[in-house]
Amino acid sequence: MFVTTQIRENLSRVRGEIAGAAQRAGRDPAAVRLIAVSKTFPAEAIAEAYQQGQREFGENRVQEFLQKRSSLDLQGIAFHLIGHLQTNKAAHATGFDWIQTIDSERLARKLNDAAAKANRILPVLIEVKLSTEETKTGASEWELAALASLIQSLPQLQLKGLMTVPPWDAEPEQARPYFRRLREMRDGLNNSGFAGITELSMGMSRDFQIAIQEGATMVRIGTAIFGTRGPRGRSSSL
Ligand SMILES: *Cc1c(COP(=O)(O)O)cnc(C)c1O
Repeated sequence: MFVTTQIRENLSRVRGEIAGAAQRAGRDPAAVRLIAVSKTFPAEAIAEAYQQGQREFGENRVQEFLQKRSSLDLQGIAFHLIGHLQTNKAAHATGFDWIQTIDSERLARKLNDAAAKANRILPVLIEVKLSTEETKTGASEWELAALASLIQSLPQLQLKGLMTVPPWDAEPEQARPYFRRLREMRDGLNNSGFAGITELSMGMSRDFQIAIQEGATMVRIGTAIFGTRGPRGRSSSL
């Protein structure tokens, strides 16, 4: 259900939990950015979170984002694409402020071309697939270095870091090795001469505190802020 008072309370609780997890891990709470995942929820829910000071939002579908974006006129708001991007939709994705899901050289080139046409420089993350699940998207570990090199050669894209979605497990602690692995991969890229790759986008409603312990710089949180989504990702209240 989408209830504005609930969003306010949830946001303040989640912020407290982020700060607490960062402090316990000996990290600066300001080094962890909250991306509020508003997919399936209406523009009013975004506006309510914005009222509470939230500025960064995550959406997983280009079309849904474009509809909501056109109905919101809010200074300083930023949207991250966190869902898989098909190459044939790259041209429509340049309205996002961040693209977190680059997973192939083909997509990187297409997005670069689209960004050039739109006269935009886009900060991007590479989505890394760390499990063997068929349903997951992302670049494989062994494709990573080549993909990172290519993106750094593309003038309209700025490679900022890595993103991952670990396999679902009833026990959130099971996600820890995946978070740790992503951090090692980022550090590995930095040690092999890639510059400016600092971001680690990892951790969702159920496991963000673990992700923060493992070094997350962006946590993507939907349910804990906006409530449960209905079957097939649709909001139950709509
Ligand atoms: C939906 C989604 C989230 C948010 O998940 P919650 O469990 O609702 O916090 C985070 N990341 C990605 C890639 C998503 O698709």
